[in-house]
Amino acid sequence: MRLDRYLANIGLGTRSEVRKIIKGGRVRVNSSIVDNGKKQIKEQDDQVQVDNKIIEYQDFFYYMLNKPQGVVSATNDKIQKTVLELLNERDCLRGLFPVGRLDKDTTGLLIITNDGKLAHQLLSPAHHVKKVYQAKIAGIVDENAVKKIASGIMLRNGERTKGAEVQVLKLEDNCSWIKITISEGKYHQIKRMFGALSMLVIELNRIEMGSLKLDASLEEGSYRKLTDNEILKLK
Ligand code: URA
Repeated sequence: MRLDRYLANIGLGTRSEVRKIIKGGRVRVNSSIVDNGKKQIKEQDDQVQVDNKIIEYQDFFYYMLNKPQGVVSATNDKIQKTVLELLNERDCLRGLFPVGRLDKDTTGLLIITNDGKLAHQLLSPAHHVKKVYQAKIAGIVDENAVKKIASGIMLRNGERTKGAEVQVLKLEDNCSWIKITISEGKYHQIKRMFGALSMLVIELNRIEMGSLKLDASLEEGSYRKLTDNEILKLK
């Protein structure tokens, strides 16, 4: 890998910032100053120092984003704003993508990474990773609805869902606040499950994915790195 790309990948700066740092003679490879960003580096073997500090190379990056409404879970889109546009320029350079999709109007926990293996593990139907959402439903989610959802729902297109756990948190005038746990990832799954019961999902917010819980201190539209412990538990 080229030295400039290597340094941009570990988050030292944008490609042009990194080039300036290299040109300024601040980078050493195996103890010798290198001022050409095109120099090829072996990530595992070469020792790179910036301002005399040894750089630990990192292949993979992991973030949690508190997705706001109005952005799409995609890496690029010609018309609509994507979740990647919420990241700063430096983080965008890392080949990141969102792990799965939340609808444009769904908020909450979205993992963003460049680790394809972890993404596959979290999304593959074989792994039954649990996703927990809080939702506001128009109408009263009664015991009958909870039971139906628990035993699996026939969607309007004839597809069947697996059973999902629903907990009613609060009933208001004519709406219900619920917590629902699903282990599948069908398109618009929760909206379609309630749709099959002739009920409308008004708000949907994902709060957990596998072992990872949405950090309550993270404002909508903000993101942070996952801790080593959070990454370890997810794998
Ligand atoms: N189910 C939905 O209907 N929408 C989402 O964004 C996630 C789950």
